[in-house]
Parts: sequence; C-alpha cells; structure tokens
Amino acid sequence: MGIEEKLPSGFLLTSVETAAGWVRKASLFPATFGLACCAIEMMTTGAGRYDLARFGMEVFRGSPRQADLMIVAGRVSQKMAPVLRQVYDQMANPKWVISMGVCASSGGMFNNYAIVQGVDHIVPVDIYLPGCPPRPEMLMDAILKLHDKIQHEPLGVNKRRAQELAEELALDATPTSEMRGLLR
Ligand code: SF4
Repeated sequence: MGIEEKLPSGFLLTSVETAAGWVRKASLFPATFGLACCAIEMMTTGAGRYDLARFGMEVFRGSPRQADLMIVAGRVSQKMAPVLRQVYDQMANPKWVISMGVCASSGGMFNNYAIVQGVDHIVPVDIYLPGCPPRPEMLMDAILKLHDKIQHEPLGVNKRRAQELAEELALDATPTSEMRGLLR
C-alpha cells in the first residue's frame, strides 16, 4: 500500500490512477515459470516471430523478486502447488496472474488426484486464457486485456468502492444450485 491509497476521492486520485495504470501496464515483467506443454507456446510468444519485446516483456525474469506477472503455463500438480505459491509470494507487489490453457484454469482433461483442478485454488487469477494449447496470438490478446485491466484499476477509496460493489453483486447472484438449463 502506497501514498495513492490514502488520497481523497476526486480529480487528484483519478489523475494518479491514470498515471499509475499507464506506468504499471507498460512495465510488466513476467516471471520465468513454465509447467507443461503450454510453456512452449509461451516461449514462442517471446521469440522473434511474435515479439513480446514490443511491450518490453521479452525478458522473462530469473528472480520472482524482479517479476510482477506470473503466466501459469500448463497443468499444476499437487506437488508443484506449494512451489507455485511460494514463487507468487516472492513476487513484487502489485502483481498479476494469467492462467494459460485449460489445464491451468480447470485441470482440463486431467481430472485426477495428481492435478490441481484450477490454479485459482492456489493464487488469485486475473485472466483465464482458454485453449489446449492457446496459440501465441491468444496469449498476446490476454496480455493486452490485462494491460486494459491494469490501466483501469481503481486505487484508494475508488478501489474500496469497487470491492464493495463486487461483493454486493456476488451476494445477489443466483446460486448455481438454483440455476436451471444446462446445469440440470
Ligand atoms: S492445456 Fe493442453 S497444451 Fe496446455 S498444459 Fe494442458 S494439455 Fe498441455
């Protein structure tokens, strides 16, 4: 939490939000972290043909302390889950997570005891990227969507208001147990 969290609501906070969002989205550093086949597509995204360098993101950081983006590329085994959480905990704040591929998001075809059925059981996820494996273009699209999210991330009182609103909407939502249609 920095000084921006203490600013009063109004023009100043909005200006700080815009500036902080722009700076944060333009200086994302991904952590070097690949788990399975999806990681090959992630590496391809950093290579010359797709050129993550256009966003200044081509150098995957060797230390989580220098990274603020975790791309979970591939299935997460139960054994790997605590390691993944430790890497996440060591990353600099504020930090973001992209869940790349159906295995990372939901366990995918590996519905068994060895694989975590969704990495959001371990770390908070900002963007879910479908596909098996997602193509580099899809990962770049997810990164652009994350840029957009970071640019419009509220701070201070605006953030607290957004969190309260999200909580109210979640409490008002129809529970899945009462939903009809494809779920029944
Ligand atoms: S989503 Fe497909 S490509 Fe990615 S880790 Fe799972 S099986 Fe491999």
